[in-house]
Order: sequence, then structure tokens, then C-alpha cells
Amino acid sequence: MTETEMSWKQGGCHCGTVRFEVLAPDEIDAKECNCSICRMTGFLHLIVESKRFRLIAGDDRIATYTFNTGTAKHHFCSVCGIKSFYVPRSKPDGFSVDVRCLDDGQVRVANIVLFDGQHWEAAFAAARGNV
Ligand SMILES: [Zn+2]
Repeated sequence: MTETEMSWKQGGCHCGTVRFEVLAPDEIDAKECNCSICRMTGFLHLIVESKRFRLIAGDDRIATYTFNTGTAKHHFCSVCGIKSFYVPRSKPDGFSVDVRCLDDGQVRVANIVLFDGQHWEAAFAAARGNV
């Protein structure tokens, strides 16, 4: 998939304070993770290079939670509490967007691929960085 076959999709948090754009195809494979935090939030991942992500609004209202290795930066809106995107441990130089936080009709999810985040090191090694 080349960048010319992708377009900028819009999304954000519940209250609208945080708004972002992500460069993505119309149809995507999303990832679901069973780690301690993703299983609670139901985060549906679209993981992209940093150049494919733009924060449009809400920079000054974002709070950040970290745990365990501290690599992942769990950014959430300090007004409504929704984590619409964050910096994932598997791609600390990129972003993971919650597909559920994209505006209605922005993408079609063709497949949901499971990532065994409960056994993160083994799952990451098995995926050979393709996460
Ligand atoms: Zn919000």
C-alpha cells in the first residue's frame, strides 16, 4: 500500500477536545491486544509511522499514564478520559490510533488480528516487528 492509496482520516476523543488525523487506507486490518490495559479499554489498534499521524487539537489537555517498562505513553483526554491514540511499546517512534475513535464511516475493518500482549516479548518476537 503506497501513501497515494491512503487518505487522511479524522478522529478524536468523546468530548472533541482531542482531534487527530491518520493517513490510512479505506480498508484496514486492526489489531486487538489482550495485555493488562488493552483488555480493559477494548482498544482496537491501527499502528502507524509517526509521519502518518497529526495531532490537530487538544495538545494542552492531554494527560499521560505509564506503567511497567514505561515505553508506551498512554495519552488520554483530561476532560473526558478517552484514550483515542497513544505511543505503543511495539512502535515507540510511531503511534497507535483507536479505530473505535475514528469518525463514523472513515475506515472499514476487514480483519481483526489478535496480539498476545499478556506474553508481550514472545508475541513481539513472533511478529518480527510487524505489529
Ligand atoms: Zn475528551
